[in-house]
Amino acid sequence: MSNQSAVSPETLQALVDSVYADLAPRRGEGAVADYIPQLARIDPQKFGIAVATVSGEVIVVGDAREAFSIQSVSKVFTLALALGKWGDGLWKRVGREPSGTSFNSIVQLEQERGIPRNPFINAGAIVVTDLLLAGHQPREALGEILRFIRFLADDESIVVDSAVAKSETETGFRNQALANYMRAFGNLHHPVDLTLGVYFHQCALALSCAQLAKAGLFLANGGRLPKDGSVVSRERARRINALMLTCGHYDASGDFAYRVGLPGKSGVGGGILAIVPGQAAIAVWSPGLNKNGNSLLGTLALEMLAQRAGWSVFGA
Ligand code: GLN
Repeated sequence: MSNQSAVSPETLQALVDSVYADLAPRRGEGAVADYIPQLARIDPQKFGIAVATVSGEVIVVGDAREAFSIQSVSKVFTLALALGKWGDGLWKRVGREPSGTSFNSIVQLEQERGIPRNPFINAGAIVVTDLLLAGHQPREALGEILRFIRFLADDESIVVDSAVAKSETETGFRNQALANYMRAFGNLHHPVDLTLGVYFHQCALALSCAQLAKAGLFLANGGRLPKDGSVVSRERARRINALMLTCGHYDASGDFAYRVGLPGKSGVGGGILAIVPGQAAIAVWSPGLNKNGNSLLGTLALEMLAQRAGWSVFGA
């Protein structure tokens, strides 16, 4: 059972509207990611919030129905899939500790012999994708990821933005370095270009806040979708939430836990998925990032919404 306060849909809509109204004048703050050229083209004024509740409501405000590049938020879904395929064997190849470094850092890989700290930094997510590739062609592995997301969001219209994937394929030099480094340590089992091909496409999944909140809802609902049954076990949902809380915002994970108090996963497209166990999944989108590569306004919106709704995993 959850100790979160239940909030009625009407109250929730009013809260979400109030957060949006308070922050709308600040749209455009932060810096849009430009190391993936296609992401640099996004309008920095975009701002949306969606809340999907365990009772089946979806509450939206702003640009919450417009698809954006979910980037590293995809790492939550590939982790859930890979755990389903490999179980705890996955943890032989990826750690479960916060890194305290940026999402694309290479420094720890040398000392830790090619085993990434956690599945949410780039190196760790690339290993998770490599695990999903086992026994498959890249196209099949990507198809499996896409089918999973569509199933979770109950929405067959979700697609991968191939222009974003191509853009990152052409400029993903750091990810190539990370992948080659891990391959040298024997922790990448497929050719670097194949694993990265899948990774870049999973990052280029385009979802709206409303779709993303629905896709993440199983993590708020003991591993189950409200209507379609079990996705992962209750225990696994808790553990994914624990990883999101401790590692979901890279070297700002502690700050996010302090300010928002909920498990969350960010992406450089400006999206964040946050989980209110027993209550709801929240997705926010604002492309301007803070210095840690997490959405500046998105984090603020979650901080305000969690506070106004009385949501925190750290106490009633
Ligand atoms: N595709 C991006 C990258 O690998 C994802 C990073 C992110 O969203 N933090 O650089």
